Amino acid sequence: MDIIACPKCQNNAIVKSGIIKGRQRYLCKSCSYYFTVNKLGKKIDDYYVTKALQLYLEGLSYREIERIIGVSHVSISNWVKEFKLKKPPHPNYHPSYKIFKHAELLDYLKSKDQLSGAGMIITELGDKFMLIKWERFKD
Ligand SMILES: [Zn+2]
Repeated sequence: MDIIACPKCQNNAIVKSGIIKGRQRYLCKSCSYYFTVNKLGKKIDDYYVTKALQLYLEGLSYREIERIIGVSHVSISNWVKEFKLKKPPHPNYHPSYKIFKHAELLDYLKSKDQLSGAGMIITELGDKFMLIKWERFKD
């Protein structure tokens, strides 16, 4: 799979850093941790699979999910097939999403205008938060 994230802090800011004993080594730019692909645990895979499928069900496209999570759209498409997921129709709305730092998120939610007439979910994403919002109640 194409999932590359730091096993220590789960950040996606990863750069290749040489080959060690035939394995690609990576460096996490966030916490400076070195690791090889083999060290990526199952827990992280599951985490990204779940997040990707969650976003898929919310109506985001493979490309959008790829941009947010950093997992290739091919992998996401494979998971959708693997788990036999069928997306319910969303005829009236398309969700929008924003990535916030914690302080930005608090700031955003301070305004009641952001909350009324809309549904939203907030989910943790690395060291940031993702807010998916859909304004289904506005006609
Ligand atoms: Zn890290």
